Amino acid sequence: MAVRSWPRRPACRVWCGGGECRRPTTPPFTRRYEGSQVSTPCPDTPALAAAVVGGGCAGLTLAHRLAADQNGPVAVIDPGDPRPDHIWGYWDDGGEDLALARPFGEAAWRQWAVIDHGGKTVLTSNNFWYRAISSARFENYLRATMPAVRQMRGTVAAATRHAGGYRVALADGRELRAARVFDSRPPAPPAGVLLQHFAGWQVRMDQPVFDPHTAILMDFRVSQEAGVHFIYLLPFSAENALVESTVFSPQVQPASWYDDQIATYLAAHYPTAGVTISSREAGVIPLARLRPDGVFGTAVGMRAAALRASSGYAFSQIQRQIADLTVRGGGARPGCDAIEAWMDQVLLRVLRGAPARAPEIFTRAAAALDGDAFARFMRGYGDWPGRLRLMSGLPMGLFLAAALGGAGR
Ligand SMILES: Cc1cc2nc3c(=O)[nH]c(=O)nc-3n(C[C@H](O)[C@H](O)[C@H](O)COP(=O)(O)OP(=O)(O)OC[C@H]3O[C@@H](n4cnc5c(N)ncnc54)[C@H](O)[C@@H]3O)c2cc1C
Repeated sequence: MAVRSWPRRPACRVWCGGGECRRPTTPPFTRRYEGSQVSTPCPDTPALAAAVVGGGCAGLTLAHRLAADQNGPVAVIDPGDPRPDHIWGYWDDGGEDLALARPFGEAAWRQWAVIDHGGKTVLTSNNFWYRAISSARFENYLRATMPAVRQMRGTVAAATRHAGGYRVALADGRELRAARVFDSRPPAPPAGVLLQHFAGWQVRMDQPVFDPHTAILMDFRVSQEAGVHFIYLLPFSAENALVESTVFSPQVQPASWYDDQIATYLAAHYPTAGVTISSREAGVIPLARLRPDGVFGTAVGMRAAALRASSGYAFSQIQRQIADLTVRGGGARPGCDAIEAWMDQVLLRVLRGAPARAPEIFTRAAAALDGDAFARFMRGYGDWPGRLRLMSGLPMGLFLAAALGGAGR
């Protein structure tokens, strides 16, 4: 097990208060223990087996899994800012890593497509599903099914090591002591970085216009004036879909711009159908290798490089990290290995230098692979045959120049 056993000592009422320390301001401190009438020295043992900084995707998944292991008290600390619902799309190979999320699928596809003006490349997989889940449903489930986990509102300001573990200082002056600390604060993106920015509508059409068997990962038949731009369309049924206008560029657009793009796309491709918008989502994801400036204990999630820099995918990578930490007892692996991280950087350089080539590049990448190889690469830690097929399918001169151009291009 990754988390060391909780020492079976009675809880300190005065100092620790069951995990949350409120230091008396005037010594000598009176220290009493439950079940004991005598004053005894307060053992400087952590009151928590684990403190998890940040209650997002990584923090909640980790806390849920740690609580299931019953290795001692766990707390999650998060400021509690609103987390608007959105869809997480990810490739699922049926493994244990994604078991927690699997029941929440809004829909799942064995086929996915990349479309440009030249046609449609459809990939079919035997071993992977592309799944979509609601972030709010998943996170609410995690929160509701870990009653033993202390869910605290607060901002962690520091975590310092001491003999028995960590002292975790909150911005409001509270202090916790924990044997282990996990840090899921998202790192700040570097200045000027390429962003993936998007807005989407969940729509209900008044006619069955969508192909519910094929998720459209990228449809480039849209304006390319604002950057690399495509429509991401997840058909939940023939009438219902998430339709998202997604751009790779350093500059986020006003909300009305994405609305116009989605409306124009739907009018162009489903001209006879009426559209009702049932919900909206939006987001910005930095497309970069994020390097944290410091870590409280062990980094997880985006702070532990879960993000695939070339695509903005991190969900399945986070679930794998947490399973590595809790089930397999290892460290939190990044979202991909060093070779794939380098390939991602080269692709991003190409997209910065030649954004107009993006439809051709992504179409050729899809055509070079079958569904399984594509999904393996997107999840990270793919195989060499898949990588070599991918590289050989791309415009060689462009990628070679970007690979040799080094950082900063
Ligand atoms: C809108 C959107 C859509 C996405 N869609 C996909 C998708 O389809 N597929 C995919 O694979 N990935 C997707 N991603 C990327 C990735 O999966 C998510 O960003 C994921 O939520 C990252 O999880 P995380 O736990 O690392 O960070 P977060 O979920 O951002 O959680 C970090 C938490 O830390 C808290 N925090 C910050 N500072 C402190 C502090 N000092 N003390 C305590 N708490 C603190 C924050 O309040 C936050 O709740 C999407 C991202 C966004 C934003």
